[in-house]
Amino acid sequence: MSKLMIIGCGGVASVAIHKCCQNSEVFTEIMIASRTKSKCDALKEKLEGTTKTVITTAQVDAENVEELTALIRDYQPDAVLNVALPYQDLTIMDACLAAGVDYIDTANYEPEDTDDPEWRAIYEKRCEELGFSAYFDYSWQWNYQKKFQDAGLTALLGTGFDPGVTSVYTAYALKHYFDEIHTIDILDCNGGDHGYPFATNFNPEINLREVSAPGSYWENGKWVEIPAMSIHRTYDFPQVGVKDMYLLHHEEIESLAKNIPGVKRIRFFMTFGQSYLTHMKCLENVGMLSTTPVQFNGQEIVPIQFLKELLPDPATLGPRTVGKTNIGCIFTGIKDGKERSIYIYNVCDHQECYKEVGSQAISYTTGVPAMIGAMLVVTGQWKKPGVFNTEEFDPDPYMEALNRFGLPWQVVEHPQMVD
Ligand code: NDP
Repeated sequence: MSKLMIIGCGGVASVAIHKCCQNSEVFTEIMIASRTKSKCDALKEKLEGTTKTVITTAQVDAENVEELTALIRDYQPDAVLNVALPYQDLTIMDACLAAGVDYIDTANYEPEDTDDPEWRAIYEKRCEELGFSAYFDYSWQWNYQKKFQDAGLTALLGTGFDPGVTSVYTAYALKHYFDEIHTIDILDCNGGDHGYPFATNFNPEINLREVSAPGSYWENGKWVEIPAMSIHRTYDFPQVGVKDMYLLHHEEIESLAKNIPGVKRIRFFMTFGQSYLTHMKCLENVGMLSTTPVQFNGQEIVPIQFLKELLPDPATLGPRTVGKTNIGCIFTGIKDGKERSIYIYNVCDHQECYKEVGSQAISYTTGVPAMIGAMLVVTGQWKKPGVFNTEEFDPDPYMEALNRFGLPWQVVEHPQMVD
């Protein structure tokens, strides 16, 4: 019996909302609050009559702390699930603190304006001190630790697939398979085909910013940064086949390096086809991925935001995408004095997801864990004062819920390794 406020009504939110409605014993009431209320109303209309969950909708600018706080106070949810954009993480956390409710999200804070001098000064200091130059990092949200502790509230960060499930896989491996984990390779494979020469599977602005940035990995206690797409491997993914993959910086590397004692190396690889890479390089070379505003015909435009308008909306890819995703982690380490290696992964079929909730597998694999994280917080299973990543809680109820809500996983001993 709980009330959840969900902020955002895009691709990921739509899946999380469908899943809350399938789980109406826990989520008796939800509010969908987003910038464009018509999208919230359309989803409410689609779902009403198929669920016992009572759905209300609201318009909100999640960057306006006062407005959002007033809405939270009025609705009085048990928690707020942020599935808007990483730009709104801090204002939503502020509103949760002001209104006294728990907070859950799927991606760490990133500023919309990377030219803001105040943000840039902190960013440049961090690049120098830590050695990775991604625009996003956990420091901004980890800085809320004391505020959430003092308020007796929980902030659960990054409960999507990666981060989210990949970090829970790590906690599960450590609990059941290893005394010590030495290396973690996170492999994110999308074997799906949407038929467009170029499209992104989730928000294009966030996706392209992530993919075009330098790669980095954690080794022997420090970050190693490399030029974008400069480490390439191939891997034969179960149920998908052989794919090219590239080393990227990814946010869970930062939290796993902090939270998994004794880990020596953490890397993240994502698969990309040649067409995607060629388009991205070309767009980057002509300046279309820039976040710095330019003047055009007397109007200020941000190139990457303009590009987003031209690209297919990820929410519309569902009916056209065929194939499967395979996302998982390969762990090596020690158990009872002996070396061990295991691979934990999930395979998800784009068309099956579309049949079930009207979305492709990328939104599905993020939206399901978002609902699961919210469920564990509102039912008290994952509730303690402070700011936490998903690997910091007992993984067992989360792993059980993944099987129950559509993301079953497998454990394979002695998997093919990535060199
Ligand atoms: P979309 O762009 O599809 O949806 C974003 C939603 O947020 C839209 O409904 C948008 O409203 C709303 N929104 C934007 N700004 C505001 C605002 N100021 N106030 C209120 N609502 C706002 O994004 P996705 O669904 O693809 O991604 C959602 C989140 O999931 C992102 O943070 C992304 O980084 C994260 N993600 C995490 C993954 C993981 O595995 N951990 C994987 C994939 C995504 P409008 O309709 O008006 O545009």
